[in-house]
Amino acid sequence: MKVIKQLPPVSFIFLIRSEEEYENANSCIEKNELSKVEIVPIYTEENLSFFENNLYIDSESISGIELSKRQVFIQQKLNIFSFGNLIVLPDGKIYANLNDPSIGTVNDTPHSVVYHELTEGKSWLKIRNQEPCSNCVYQWLCPSPSNYEAVIGKPNLCFMKNTSI
Ligand code: SF4
Repeated sequence: MKVIKQLPPVSFIFLIRSEEEYENANSCIEKNELSKVEIVPIYTEENLSFFENNLYIDSESISGIELSKRQVFIQQKLNIFSFGNLIVLPDGKIYANLNDPSIGTVNDTPHSVVYHELTEGKSWLKIRNQEPCSNCVYQWLCPSPSNYEAVIGKPNLCFMKNTSI
């Protein structure tokens, strides 16, 4: 850690699978006085309870959401996590999101790849317009569907009940 801290500014990404790993990451951050830090929860198929206890939306997290009209409008139109992303894999295929089908290859023009995603793609414009969110009063307040929903296999990560419009 001493050597790393002598290098030009370094960012640290802590991948965590449990509360214990979260605590360990926090103590490492405090002990080493790290500043550029990101903590990223990882779903392993065996730690659903970690997600349910810490990342699922509940009434407390809903009440903490503060959005401008502009942010609400953005969430009504596009996916805040995927929009604009283009990922190129070593085999030449291009993806807007690695959980969705490829939208072209490096042999296609950038224009055709972007056009494909905007007209037929499943990522950039993926919004909360599916049930149960489409019938919920918080539809446009909750963040766009994320990769966590995709890998967990649910349309939402939510404990909210009786939220029908
Ligand atoms: S049902 Fe969907 S829109 Fe409603 S609170 Fe849950 S995640 Fe948000």
